[in-house]
Amino acid sequence: MFKDIMLNTLVILTPVLLFQVFFPSTQYVKGTKQRVFWGIICSAMIIICMNFPLFSNDIMWDLRYVPLIFSFFYGGFLSGILTYIPFIIYRATFDLDIPFIIASVTMTTIFLVLMYIRNKIDSLNTYHKIYLATALNVTFNTIGFLLSNYYLIVTTDESGVIFDKLLFVYLISTVISSIIIVLIIPMIENYNVNQILKEESYKAEKLSVVSEMAASIAHEIRNPLTVVRGFIQLSLEKSNDQDKLYMNTAIEELDRAELIISEYLSYARPSMPVKEEIDVSNEVASVVELIKSFANINSVELTYSAEKNLRTLADKLHLRQILINLVKNSIEACSNKNSKVIVTLTYSQGFICVEVIDNGKGMTEEQLSGLGNPYFTTKETGTGLGLTVTFDLIKNMNGTLKYESEFGQGTKAIIKIPGYKYYKRSKNG
Ligand code: ADP
Ligand code: MG
Repeated sequence: MFKDIMLNTLVILTPVLLFQVFFPSTQYVKGTKQRVFWGIICSAMIIICMNFPLFSNDIMWDLRYVPLIFSFFYGGFLSGILTYIPFIIYRATFDLDIPFIIASVTMTTIFLVLMYIRNKIDSLNTYHKIYLATALNVTFNTIGFLLSNYYLIVTTDESGVIFDKLLFVYLISTVISSIIIVLIIPMIENYNVNQILKEESYKAEKLSVVSEMAASIAHEIRNPLTVVRGFIQLSLEKSNDQDKLYMNTAIEELDRAELIISEYLSYARPSMPVKEEIDVSNEVASVVELIKSFANINSVELTYSAEKNLRTLADKLHLRQILINLVKNSIEACSNKNSKVIVTLTYSQGFICVEVIDNGKGMTEEQLSGLGNPYFTTKETGTGLGLTVTFDLIKNMNGTLKYESEFGQGTKAIIKIPGYKYYKRSKNG
């Protein structure tokens, strides 16, 4: 039997290995071509499993459910159906008898269950995937066991003996297939994480070159701006009132350009955390200003209301990054007309509270619980790293980030960080 266990394990491992050979630079299983490939090899593995059953003496029992589970877990519906249909056809070529009906009913039930839950699988983390796959495997084996048992009781006289044998076969197979699942899922998930890291590092590399260039260009533009401003200032004194008005407007606009450039440079600067006293009210205002054009492009109305003079001890760039990540997510969650994102800043009892509220698409319970997990994203081009970093940064500030959300209604992100309200002293105080 040991030989059979080893053989079956190897058979089930084959799709995992073949996938890495044929698609060395993608994750499991992204893209239509990959899904088709995955579905077909998983179905081939079911057929091999059936040809080399774990038990083959009185009772035949194989590990057919495992490849079907993997097919759905990583390839979705397309893979699932490409695994399911060949199984039914192949099984039909044996005999169109009652065991065929039992096998088909079991497999179809499993197919339907997996089809129903397939969309929820992606957002689970590794542990939850393992629990779910194991639970499904145990359930499926049990269904198979109960149906076969019923059939055997009906068709044989020695039902007692057969029942004992079947129970033994069922228990051993369930344990072994569960162990295989527990070993293979982390392997696939780890591989996925490595692939994502690889992609991320390429992206980061490109981005850093671009932002370095942009930073140096921004720097170059600043110098002529200063010169122009200087000359306008000089001629200002000699001009009449009408010209003065024009020149002052020109200077104001130059100052604005200068401000935008220095803001940009401060974002592009690589960050070593420096804790300093910062005015959170000003930071919120400047981030909202900065991200306004992004909101406009997405036809989202971005507004904010902030209490003045709220201060905290933190790294300025980190605070900005947190705010940008949250506001950007909110804007990205909005797709309909009348989309609004509101940022509010309040103070109460030693804590500064920033709320980012949107009326976008909201989140389901599952998505909510996935927030902050690395690589958890529902966006086509998302990284799923924004909130991971954000949670981390807020923790470093001894703060908290909580989410309230209703699917289809909108989301509220609530940051609380320690801080205080600064009161200007009056002259005699
Ligand atoms: P990314 O933005 O790259 O997807 P994040 O870590 O910033 O990564 O966000 C993770 C996921 O959390 C998003 O893909 C989205 O599904 C969900 N999410 C975050 N903020 C919101 C929000 N305001 N409304 C709806 N979903 C959100
Ligand atoms: Mg994001």
